[in-house]
Amino acid sequence: NIAQTPAAKTDFSKWKPKIQPQDSAVTAITPSLNAVAVGHVDAGKSTLLGRLLHDTGVVSSHQVEKLAKSASEIGKKSFSYAWLMDQTDEERENGVTVDISVREFSYESREYFILDAPGHYNFVPNMIAGASQADVAIVVLDSLADAFERGFFADGQTKEHALLCRAMGVNHVIIAVNKMDQLKFDQTRFDEISDQMGLFLSKIGYSDVQFVPCSGFTGANIVKKQDISWYHDKTIMATLQGIPSAVSSDENALKLDIFNVKSSFGGVTVSGRLFAGMVQIDQPVVISPGNQVAIVRNIGVDLGSRNFAKAGENVNLSLEAVDGCDLELIKAGDILAQYSDPVRRGNKFRARVTLFDVDLPVLKGTQCDFYRSRVSSVAVFSKLYSLLDKQGNTIKEKPRFVDKGQTAFVELILSDNIALELEKENKHLSRFVLRRDGKTIGFGSVVKVARNPVDTS
Ligand code: GDP
Repeated sequence: NIAQTPAAKTDFSKWKPKIQPQDSAVTAITPSLNAVAVGHVDAGKSTLLGRLLHDTGVVSSHQVEKLAKSASEIGKKSFSYAWLMDQTDEERENGVTVDISVREFSYESREYFILDAPGHYNFVPNMIAGASQADVAIVVLDSLADAFERGFFADGQTKEHALLCRAMGVNHVIIAVNKMDQLKFDQTRFDEISDQMGLFLSKIGYSDVQFVPCSGFTGANIVKKQDISWYHDKTIMATLQGIPSAVSSDENALKLDIFNVKSSFGGVTVSGRLFAGMVQIDQPVVISPGNQVAIVRNIGVDLGSRNFAKAGENVNLSLEAVDGCDLELIKAGDILAQYSDPVRRGNKFRARVTLFDVDLPVLKGTQCDFYRSRVSSVAVFSKLYSLLDKQGNTIKEKPRFVDKGQTAFVELILSDNIALELEKENKHLSRFVLRRDGKTIGFGSVVKVARNPVDTS
């Protein structure tokens, strides 16, 4: 085990949890549902999500009116709903979502986290990070003449975003066929878009897809059902309600994928999703790859604090350093774990990789970009061990190349040491995406981390 020995001198090996997973206070909690909204720029993501927040009662009409007023002052009236999601002034001026906006709300006794990922071409890494925390993707399509086609064909981002969600292991997809108000809810257009999109989604491995004709602008089929003669299925909100959390509570040791880090008085607050186990007040934890040891002093969940949180929940943890560990060095993309069970770190590992419909095969020495959660690094295929069939059996040893659609067992070397979780420990955290020349070429899972990291200094 190359997991590092924690840096702290204090011995926490005798630390015992006060709260158990089977306690009724713990089992009473339903894990949150995390949704990521994706789509081509201007498809109407922000408007749709703003509408969702308004119609579920999370933001008031008053707030919307206030935003509408300031929007019209700079000549962007129609953007008022979008402003509920786009947070910074700079984003308001530009009308483009830059980083990920997160909105949290509870609806009929369940917590929802909606991540509004940027549609702009340059911000794919943020989208990958969003998808890495998501149970479901809401893919927003502009149904207007040519608009869907612009997003779908050529350099449009629609397919790329769907591929990324698939690559990050997001199992559920909702297709919001948006702006249907402009088309008087024309069934022919809806069917045309659903057919093309459905074909593509099934090709990349999605089977359970809900297509919803909707309008973020009028609110049709977002939360409130629109009376359409040919559509009797669920709204977007009702579809979300029916989706289970991809992270089930389990008895494994705590693992938190750190999404954001903030300095706070006397320490650091990290936020992100718990992908395994429980966290509780006064628990000692260790953060990889920097090996910092800290004590959890406060656990923020929903809109308050609790003395524990469990797998599937999104949390803010206030950390206090132990024995002079420098918590300022913690970065988004690090993994926080139980003190006695740290996550490995390294830059050389064995992985199972599946390639999408790539133009060029992968050879030994091929370089690409590696993404896991909020971490990115340059990766080199240093060894090609074998090609695998769908069941994971070897069909060829030492292949010369890996081609489109193939799955292979390989060794990758990254340019940086990062936190690396094994697939057998945690499927979500072991998952990564590979891209080349701005296109997603495949995905994989870490299977084994090398004992000695490569010295890249
Ligand atoms: P994003 O880039 O995907 O977040 O798109 P926005 O939410 O900023 O919307 C882009 C533009 O489309 C704005 O001018 C919106 O007012 C408009 N829009 C968004 N949703 C709808 C809709 O349902 N119907 C109509 N007619 N226009 C919409």
